[in-house]
Amino acid sequence: MRLELSQRVAGLNHRYRSHDPAALVDATLADPDTGRVALVSSFGAESVVLLHMVATVAPQTPVLFVDTLMLFEETLAYQREVADQLGLRDVRVIRASKTDLAAQDPDGTLHETNPDACCALRKTAPLEAALAEFDGWLTGRKRYQGQTRADLDHFEVETATRMKINPLAHWGRTEIAAYMDRYDLPRHPLVARGYPSIGCAPCTSPVAAGEDPRAGRWRGQEKTECGIHFVNGRIVRPGNSEKVA
Ligand code: SF4
Repeated sequence: MRLELSQRVAGLNHRYRSHDPAALVDATLADPDTGRVALVSSFGAESVVLLHMVATVAPQTPVLFVDTLMLFEETLAYQREVADQLGLRDVRVIRASKTDLAAQDPDGTLHETNPDACCALRKTAPLEAALAEFDGWLTGRKRYQGQTRADLDHFEVETATRMKINPLAHWGRTEIAAYMDRYDLPRHPLVARGYPSIGCAPCTSPVAAGEDPRAGRWRGQEKTECGIHFVNGRIVRPGNSEKVA
């Protein structure tokens, strides 16, 4: 009989506690306790590291890319370049339905008046629908990215039936940069132009030297994350929730 999700997550955290990220990805994708797993990627500034790890051992893994229809052209081009170069075989571009966009954001200005609703419409809800067929998803989240992630485990319970897997949880900027150098991975072109964290074009600005890397996301607003998230299958307001992009 299959163990409860929380028991499987605890077991996975124990089993792979000493694995480095690449070894953890390799083992995780073959471990029956994780079930059907997708990689969710924004193809942002550091995304290529986890994409490379997955492509190296299981290029057929479904990769979910949320196109909000508000992204930089550079991100869309980079997504195609990276997927091609790494040989990813199952990249799925996720978008909000035309019906929902027409009903909730007909003129494309919702991000100005209600960015949480815009993120829910263009990111969270389409992603949640795409994840319905999976038992878990790989994320690129890391402990160094903020206080709410300081205790991030490699495996965590997300909903009653699904887990999140964070292979890079314990890595910092140094390890990320070293991995990119080691494998000569392509960089997102906007990083060199002052964007260390890259989201949608209307909500991302360049960052000055010495600023927090995420200072350019929703600059001038209290909002720091995608906003509305699903916990146990229900939409919740920000708090301890985490970003997708
Ligand atoms: S980041 Fe901005 S444009 Fe993108 S979905 Fe959120 S509010 Fe909308």
